[in-house]
Amino acid sequence: MGNIVKSACPLNCWDSCGFNVTIEDGNIKRVEGDPHHPITKGKICGRGRMLEARTNSDQRITHPLKKVDGEFHPISWKQALDEIAEKLSEIKKAYGPTAVFHSHDYANSGLLVNLDKRFFNNYGGVTEVIGSLCWGSGIEAQKWDFGDSYSHAPEDIFNSKHIVIWGRNVARTNMHLYEYLQKAKAAGATLTVIDPIYNATAKIADRYISVKPGMDSFLALGIMKEILRLQLEDRLFIKNYSVGFEDVEDLLASISLEELSQFAEVPIEVFTDLAKIYGNGPTMTYLGLGMQRYENGGNTIRTIDALIAMSGNVGVPGGGANYGNLQVGQSFNIESLTMPHRRQESRQFTMMKQAEEVLKANEPPIKMIVVTCGNPLTQVPDTNLVKQAFESVETVVVLEQYMTDTAAVADYILPVKTSFEVEDIYYASMYHGYMNYSAALVEAPGEAQSDLWIWTELSKRLGFGEVFDFTREEFLEMGLADLNVHGISLSKLKQEHHLLLPVKKVPWEDKVFKTPSGKYEFTASRLDQEGKISLSYPRESSVNNPVLVEKYPYTLLSLHPMRSNHSQHYHLIAGLQQNRVEVSEDVALEKNLSENDRVRVYNDRGQVIGHVKIMKRAHPKTINIDEGNWSQFGGTVNLLTSNEPSDNGLGSILYDCLVNIEKWS
Ligand code: SF4
Repeated sequence: MGNIVKSACPLNCWDSCGFNVTIEDGNIKRVEGDPHHPITKGKICGRGRMLEARTNSDQRITHPLKKVDGEFHPISWKQALDEIAEKLSEIKKAYGPTAVFHSHDYANSGLLVNLDKRFFNNYGGVTEVIGSLCWGSGIEAQKWDFGDSYSHAPEDIFNSKHIVIWGRNVARTNMHLYEYLQKAKAAGATLTVIDPIYNATAKIADRYISVKPGMDSFLALGIMKEILRLQLEDRLFIKNYSVGFEDVEDLLASISLEELSQFAEVPIEVFTDLAKIYGNGPTMTYLGLGMQRYENGGNTIRTIDALIAMSGNVGVPGGGANYGNLQVGQSFNIESLTMPHRRQESRQFTMMKQAEEVLKANEPPIKMIVVTCGNPLTQVPDTNLVKQAFESVETVVVLEQYMTDTAAVADYILPVKTSFEVEDIYYASMYHGYMNYSAALVEAPGEAQSDLWIWTELSKRLGFGEVFDFTREEFLEMGLADLNVHGISLSKLKQEHHLLLPVKKVPWEDKVFKTPSGKYEFTASRLDQEGKISLSYPRESSVNNPVLVEKYPYTLLSLHPMRSNHSQHYHLIAGLQQNRVEVSEDVALEKNLSENDRVRVYNDRGQVIGHVKIMKRAHPKTINIDEGNWSQFGGTVNLLTSNEPSDNGLGSILYDCLVNIEKWS
């Protein structure tokens, strides 16, 4: 039978599900949904269920490993920590703390995951990563427009007359929103899906609109132009609560509907239909993360924000430009956990350019890389360059559970516990506002330790052990301190397992924005950058690089896989262990490709081998290879992607990637 206990999903995902975990004889037996969770209500996806296998697999690294003459050998924790601490100490003395590069990402959430920053701030600083591969340009864009990136509460969808899902396959990546969609539809709301791929969410829509990858802003401009023609704009909002709309009007006057239609590859009558949908709201828009992974990505999100704002769908129940929901993470006292005031020096590399920066850094050079919560050798663009950079550094330390592509290039691998082996609080700044608690449920195999134990031991050796002289529970209480005034405490959370954070259900309802002007900024005044939205195109497009289009005529997307959380589950699922190259029907026709044909997808940065799957009704000239695959199973799609940043500097351009394809024997 086993013992069923409540827990939570730690994976980097919109839904932040509650779990019921079955434990038998001290082992995880099953992971299921917690039916009492207010949002996720007992339903979870396969990625969450796979956490049982991730915890129990005999492929786990269970002892510290050191590479000697190209081979890994088990060593004691004492030896590993003594040697790493000694190197950290020597590097700081000789070059300063920023000669250490901390490569960090968000494979798993967890409040105490942030303690790696506490370690490095007390070390004196470090070279850290900024920006995000995943959603960086969109978050920055919404900060320019609204002052922050906030979403409506899930249940507010029932106040919507129309729902537009723009570039997000919620059936795959946000499954509880999918359920809300079905209910809202049954209650009378209309559902429109805009996406280059005819995905599972599109299949339940009233209206599916296929848009050219990277050209969503031209669709938004076409809709705005029609809204003005039909006089459906919200003049009250524009006059009282916004600045810069005259710049949008000038922009719209500079381009015809026909040109917008040609760029977006969307018929003009669709602009008119959608103008009526936005102009007769409330209309709720859920924006996905893919359409901003282009050089023009920030501008794309800002243009869609402008459409939502000018049509009167900001700050009203049933409306919203729902992208990130940063108010969730902002509820916690992160600074008391990370101690940024202790940093003496700092240097920043963007997430996208980290490899290039490592290779060229000389003031000081990078002498050590420490990797936490990430697998940059599959996830960071231009994998060949990332490998070269990591191999060029004297000491690479990776905190990991498995021999990932990144762990394989390490000098030291420190085996860490899974989320079921540590106590933590889980939340996601993407969708709903609940946080979930999980106790440590089982013992870790072998000598695997928590990240916190590793930071504690290293800090003792480096002379600042007192800043880690707290129990896990005390650290959790530290992070929750600001919430006590709202009646939220660790003991209450432990009792109830999930608690709603004090987040706004309808952001911007008071029409007071966090921008410099306090208004919605169609033309942004933030950071002295050019703040107008504009006509801008992907880097690898016929407008910006027609020669490249001749050579590489197809746009390559790299969607999140259905069954793996990024790269985390590939080694545990036999069916995932080859690249599936999804091609639109016209590509199959042009290249004479049939299902399961072996193909090579290539550009000047690299190549990936895989097997063909033909996508029905996908936008022409489109190919997809899911992200996250390991080198031993055919290699990551990032062998093909570019490490250039997006227009606002803080996002990747992973989808801004032209390729060609051929049969391969
Ligand atoms: S991956 Fe997302 S949908 Fe799946 S169980 Fe975890 S939080 Fe829920």
